[in-house]
Amino acid sequence: MLAEMGLAPVWRLRADRGARGGEETRAARAEPGAAGERGAAPGSAAEREATIMRMDWDALKRAVPVCTACELHKSRTQTVFGVGDQRAEWLLVGEAPGAEEDRLGEPFVGQAGKLLDAMLAAIDLKRGENVYIANVLKCRPPGNRNPEAHEVAQCSPYLLRQIALIRPKLIVAMGRFAAQTLLNSDASIASLRGTVHRFAGVPLIVTYHPAYLLRNLPDKAKAWHDLLFARRTLRSLK
Ligand code: SF4
Repeated sequence: MLAEMGLAPVWRLRADRGARGGEETRAARAEPGAAGERGAAPGSAAEREATIMRMDWDALKRAVPVCTACELHKSRTQTVFGVGDQRAEWLLVGEAPGAEEDRLGEPFVGQAGKLLDAMLAAIDLKRGENVYIANVLKCRPPGNRNPEAHEVAQCSPYLLRQIALIRPKLIVAMGRFAAQTLLNSDASIASLRGTVHRFAGVPLIVTYHPAYLLRNLPDKAKAWHDLLFARRTLRSLK
């Protein structure tokens, strides 16, 4: 009956898929939401993202250190996965590892890390307790250059999966790059501050990166206001 209606074949053997790979790739790209288990072409970015989005913490932690999806793997000492409470209400997201982070494998270390710890303490938070810290990129861009768009595209599924696993109540984007990347915006950090944005359905607040604050001390007061705003926002959600 289906053949008569021009709708057959409905099922094909898996072995037949290879011959239709190009056709399936186009179909997968054309269909909204095709990046799931259904319709993602083998080896495509959609299939890679779908695979990452199925990972649990252990699988994710095994996948990132061996990732070679962008050129940054060639110059890294090690990946910087992220640290903290895997059930945290607070998720802090920075840009990418710097030299110290690349050496130690932990985000926000050195002077910027000390300042971040002090900022957290000021709102009664502590690294590792109800706080998770990660970067948009898991590998250090050489010479601390700005990340490239394709590097962000390759790495962002890891952060997306971390967010899905943590299920934070609030995200704090630290610095211009993290804010612009997560909000897909070119707006200045000054214009993005003071507003509750959303990322993947989670409220997101923008503030300065601690490394920037070390060079621009007057803006520390603004970061303090941002943290108070973030704390008020989180409390209002409870
Ligand atoms: Fe993989 Fe991300 Fe490192 Fe690129 S930056 S190699 S996508 S982990």
